[in-house]
Amino acid sequence: MKVDVIVIGGGPSGLMASIAAAKQGVKVLLLDKGDKLGRKLAISGGGRCNVTNRMDQAELIAHIPGNGRFMHSPFSVFNNENIITFFENLGIELKEEDRGRMFPVTDKATTVVETLLRKVKELGVIIRTNTAVKKVHFDEEKVKGVTVMSGERIDATSVIIATGGKSVPQTGSTGDGYPWAKQAGHTITELYPTEVPITSNEPFIRKKVLQGLSLRDIELSVLNPKGKRIKTHDGDMIFTHFGISGPTALRCSQYVVKALKKFDTSTIDMVIDSMPKQSEEQLFQTIRKMLTYEPKKALKTITKGLIPERLLHFFFERLQLDPTKAGASVSNEEVRSLANIIKEFRFAVTGTLSIEKAFVTGGGVSVKEIHPKTMESKKKSGLFFCGEVVDIHGYTGGYNITVAFSTGFTAGKAAGEKSKHVYEL
Ligand SMILES: Cc1cc2nc3c(=O)[nH]c(=O)nc-3n(C[C@H](O)[C@H](O)[C@H](O)COP(=O)(O)OP(=O)(O)OC[C@H]3O[C@@H](n4cnc5c(N)ncnc54)[C@H](O)[C@@H]3O)c2cc1C
Repeated sequence: MKVDVIVIGGGPSGLMASIAAAKQGVKVLLLDKGDKLGRKLAISGGGRCNVTNRMDQAELIAHIPGNGRFMHSPFSVFNNENIITFFENLGIELKEEDRGRMFPVTDKATTVVETLLRKVKELGVIIRTNTAVKKVHFDEEKVKGVTVMSGERIDATSVIIATGGKSVPQTGSTGDGYPWAKQAGHTITELYPTEVPITSNEPFIRKKVLQGLSLRDIELSVLNPKGKRIKTHDGDMIFTHFGISGPTALRCSQYVVKALKKFDTSTIDMVIDSMPKQSEEQLFQTIRKMLTYEPKKALKTITKGLIPERLLHFFFERLQLDPTKAGASVSNEEVRSLANIIKEFRFAVTGTLSIEKAFVTGGGVSVKEIHPKTMESKKKSGLFFCGEVVDIHGYTGGYNITVAFSTGFTAGKAAGEKSKHVYEL
């Protein structure tokens, strides 16, 4: 069999690549090893599919800590606004939520997946599910085609590798693209888990003292061994039975992984600021005033509502501060220590859950060896990469899906044009 463009992988990047290639009027074959396409997309954004993010380009790039600057070129071909228009033209109404996150108004990821599939089929893309690619063939200069598990060889002018990362392998993303890229002469930068829950061996974690407690609008930081903040994120988090999770913990996770490696240590400290809107001195004054105002009431009653009660009681215990003590008898030193722990609760973390449990894979095919305007390999003509297999990763919040759609469209369009050009020669 011979086609113009083979797309390996039917995640968001491969689906968009298929659409963009087929729009060029060439014969496109989409291969996926699973029985369904878009399996990871269907579970993304809590099953509601966070299709993209509406922030302006500079902000978008700032939220893609893994090689975000590379995205300037793919965004010049197909950006977040193009993604929004693309879906709206297909009849999917989108809505904007906090921090620019865009979702279908149905709140159902299946709406997005089904619409993409309809478009892929309408454009005449040949789809083969349950078809794992075993090998990608190259000669000295260019890509030649693929062999699938059944042993069938399929030739093509262009091959787009859209196999995703190594995270959540039950969705089909098992890292198959990396060895093929390596065979083509590409560098694979070190793979690591990112957007992943963080683990801790602190006694209060092991004893599950705070398990299930959610904190809202806090600031979470990763510290270097000298106690200097490496990275701070604001938002929500939750204590779990193994450590911490939730949006801010996920965002901080890659800095934990990198710090442990960089400083060659088994633990690194993190710090929670439970009341980031006030300075420690302001908080001290606030508590002091509250105590003066109600001198006869118990400390725990007066300070109730400052932060979640469970956390407040945990802090009283840590400071060995009697919560039943009357406001008038709380010393300035005790108030200072309370203000300090609310602003700077420090604890050690040991790492993160595995790459398989991560939302996103960090590392991948080096961006230095990919043409950013086309996503074509600098090593082999006709070979293209898109999506998470590339060394680009963003925070959760629609940034990875935006990267997948943008690089997918860019790769598909360029691969389609290349194949069309072959006919014209
Ligand atoms: C639970 C969860 C929630 C997420 N939420 C968000 C979010 O809110 N915002 C955000 O931006 N990102 C989120 N992500 C990340 C986002 O879903 C991924 O970055 C994105 O799906 C990557 O798209 P992709 O097309 O590169 O790869 P994938 O979606 O991983 O698709 C790869 C495809 O390739 C196929 N494949 C692999 N190997 C082969 C082979 N040998 N032969 C044939 N086919 C093959 C697989 O079957 C799969 O269908 C989330 C991820 C998870 C796991």
